[in-house]
Amino acid sequence: MVSCYPAKFEAFKSDKKVRNVILLIGDGMGLPHVQAAMTAAGVPLNIQRTEVTGLQTSHSADNYITDSAASGTALSSGIKTNNGMIGVDPQGNKVKTILEIAEENGLATGLVSTSAITHATPASFIAHQQSRGSYEDIAADFLRTDIDVFIGGGYDHFAKRADGKNLIDNLKASGYEVVTSADMLRNSDTPSKLAALVYPDQPPYRLSGRGEMLYDATRKAIDILSKNKKGFFLMIEGSQIDWAGHANAADTLIDETLDLDRAVGVALDFAKADRNTLVIVTADHETGGVTITGGDIKTRRTRLQFSTKGHSAIMLPVYAFGPGAGNFTGIYDNTDIPKKILNAYMFNK
Ligand code: MG
Ligand code: ZN
Repeated sequence: MVSCYPAKFEAFKSDKKVRNVILLIGDGMGLPHVQAAMTAAGVPLNIQRTEVTGLQTSHSADNYITDSAASGTALSSGIKTNNGMIGVDPQGNKVKTILEIAEENGLATGLVSTSAITHATPASFIAHQQSRGSYEDIAADFLRTDIDVFIGGGYDHFAKRADGKNLIDNLKASGYEVVTSADMLRNSDTPSKLAALVYPDQPPYRLSGRGEMLYDATRKAIDILSKNKKGFFLMIEGSQIDWAGHANAADTLIDETLDLDRAVGVALDFAKADRNTLVIVTADHETGGVTITGGDIKTRRTRLQFSTKGHSAIMLPVYAFGPGAGNFTGIYDNTDIPKKILNAYMFNK
């Protein structure tokens, strides 16, 4: 049947299922962060290439304002938990994540972040711990799944541990190529399993030396995961938008948002060519209580005003591209996002 809609509105044929999902999370990235980045860029952002926008609420089980552990768990499992808890419900019971469900269905899986890979957001997709600060226990949880690629900081949580174990040896024994610097990552061939722990703990800001790590990591992860014909699930986090928000550092906040947007571009280019990939871009919460009190399109400047050094409770934008993206329009809760993602997968026919 001939469609009366232009090609762009393929997104609204929500019955079409996908093989691959790429979920990009800007930690702390509210609407003002995106708008300030749009103004600073002077050209359309990659985020603006998405086809559908929605809004999500994000309160946790015990607080109107969520932290990254509770919101990460909501986004990974569809369960509300208390602030600080990773992949468990408020009673401490483990909850199954979309990454684990993807694994069970034969998909390849990956996590990329510009924080330690053991930090709350990526940890929420793979680990089950009562406390987000249990970094060494979270690192050990990586070996309890068959994740194919993970890239971030946090080498010391695997290698220099209080229990004396060196989990790098375990990773190698499990078939991972282990790389320990951003240069090694850029120059590595494309192995079938990759553990890239490219900083001892937290990477620096992009402007302070991290460079194009997120762009390189996103390309590498998609290269590896897309070899699996059954499909993949990949979560990519721009972690440090949040840290710039806590620091009320406007220029860094904008730069970190633009850094995530370049990863969004890589994801969208892949999805556009592949036609079987759903891309979602959203946040776990807003950081800084940011508003824009002035600006100038010509000079690409915005005046950001911060109302807190912490997180705020404001609703968060969701941007979607690809088959099934239409299911992400409207206002819903963060716990609905993994349900929508699972529903989009072919294995869930
Ligand atoms: Mg985070
Ligand atoms: Zn934060």
